[in-house]
Amino acid sequence: MVATQNVNERRRHVPMRRCVVCRESKPQGEMLRLARDESGAYRYDARRRMGGRGTWVCHACAAAAVQEDDAKRLSRAFKAQAAQVLGLLREAAKLPQVPASGRSAAVTARRDGGTDV
Ligand SMILES: [Zn+2]
Repeated sequence: MVATQNVNERRRHVPMRRCVVCRESKPQGEMLRLARDESGAYRYDARRRMGGRGTWVCHACAAAAVQEDDAKRLSRAFKAQAAQVLGLLREAAKLPQVPASGRSAAVTARRDGGTDV
């Protein structure tokens, strides 16, 4: 019964997040968020709204791990839970990626990469 939706449309800058696998910082929209529940298990947070500490994996790393079915790729970041996380990423990969709604197409109008104050 939560009706309020506080969408902050005015925010212009793209929040960056760091992928725990490749350690590169990328726009949040290119990342998958995993959140840990009380038991310490990871869950895929498709809407990036779950409470708790988020862990981010970029699409490239997620896709590579899923395609190669390679939990080892994740083991440095997720240790013993790498296999579980790989399962989550596999599920996430099957879901359609919902583009963030309400985002303006201003990027396409960019001409001179001018300063944006
Ligand atoms: Zn990555």
